Amino acid sequence: MNFPTDFTYEALPMRVVMGPRSLDRLSHEIDHIGLQRVVVLCSPDRQVLAETVAGLLGPRVVDIHAGARMHVPVESAYEARRRMSEVNADGCIALGGGSSIGLGKAVALHDGLPIIAVPTTYAGSEMTPVWGLTENGVKRTGRDPRVLPVSVLYDPALTVTLPAAVSVTSGMNAIAHAAEALYAPDASPIIGLMAEEGVRALAAALPGIVADGADLVARAAAQYGAWLCGSCLGSTTMSLHHKLCHALGGTLDLPHAQVHTVVLPHALAYNRRAAPQAMAALGRALGTSIDPAEFLWDFAGRLGAPRSLRDLGMTENDIDGIVKVALANPYANPRELTAEGLGELLYAAWCGEPPAYC
Ligand code: NAD
Repeated sequence: MNFPTDFTYEALPMRVVMGPRSLDRLSHEIDHIGLQRVVVLCSPDRQVLAETVAGLLGPRVVDIHAGARMHVPVESAYEARRRMSEVNADGCIALGGGSSIGLGKAVALHDGLPIIAVPTTYAGSEMTPVWGLTENGVKRTGRDPRVLPVSVLYDPALTVTLPAAVSVTSGMNAIAHAAEALYAPDASPIIGLMAEEGVRALAAALPGIVADGADLVARAAAQYGAWLCGSCLGSTTMSLHHKLCHALGGTLDLPHAQVHTVVLPHALAYNRRAAPQAMAALGRALGTSIDPAEFLWDFAGRLGAPRSLRDLGMTENDIDGIVKVALANPYANPRELTAEGLGELLYAAWCGEPPAYC
């Protein structure tokens, strides 16, 4: 018999509501938690959606704050806390992608106010106790159970406005969470099952979304995958891929989801020999017998996603600095990390070459 019998698994206390027109159930979620004065947090370009949501909820919404920004600059966190304190808010609805949810987490980290997350991308932040704050160009992250949303509400209709290009990179960002969870030092059988199913759902959904962004069946499948992949991120420790993306995003201010999309095939190729079971699980989920790293590089190309860090604004001279940042602190990874290996990896990702490590 070959069953996993040696692991630790800790379930996170969250309530998830998923389904068509689930936005209609937001009012019930607010009652369920007992909130009476909520602020809707969103990015500036989601203000109209925030007003629609506020209209559904009536006087329980006391303010809309459209000040979410990528990577949560400390100034934006301070401003959100000030606004919420001014109106005596007892919680927030974080409406949007990882930036809005990150802003809700920054408030919760300091003031302990509960978050109801209504995600509109596939980034997965809503399912994690991970917060991030950026100060003077340096992004700090940490884990704290206070920032875990109390309720998460997934309504596929809220994602039909997400452009195809953003949908694909956001979906690849989610796939990256599941891929690294499969070889995480704290992986577990439950997370393994969730990771495989999450990747399977996203790999099936993304081509449908590119073909027709209004396809609600594909949108719902992508949200289902994003939920599962986000749960994997929330329950495990990430390795090389996430560390490289963190270094690239934080140091060079490159766009988050696009960086994940470009780097993922290369990080997987780097780790492929050292994590054969994870690669086999990924292959099953992607429905391919070819190497998952090559499959994902090809998949990104077929869906019109970026495949080169050069196209995202990085210069070749940046490579050495990113290698140094990625090696500055030790972390778990299936394969030993070397400056030479990471330099080769980043060069291939920078050029847009197919992944080719052994
Ligand atoms: P984002 O939240 O910055 O959204 C990108 C843009 O898309 C924004 O302008 C947003 O308003 C817009 N948008 C969102 N939903 C839309 C929709 N349905 N239709 C049209 N436009 C829409 O991007 P993201 O990739 O979701 O999140 C990235 C951020 O989240 C990064 O800061 C990253 O570090 C963080 N993140 C954190 C975690 C975590 O666990 N803490 C996990 C993943 C990502």
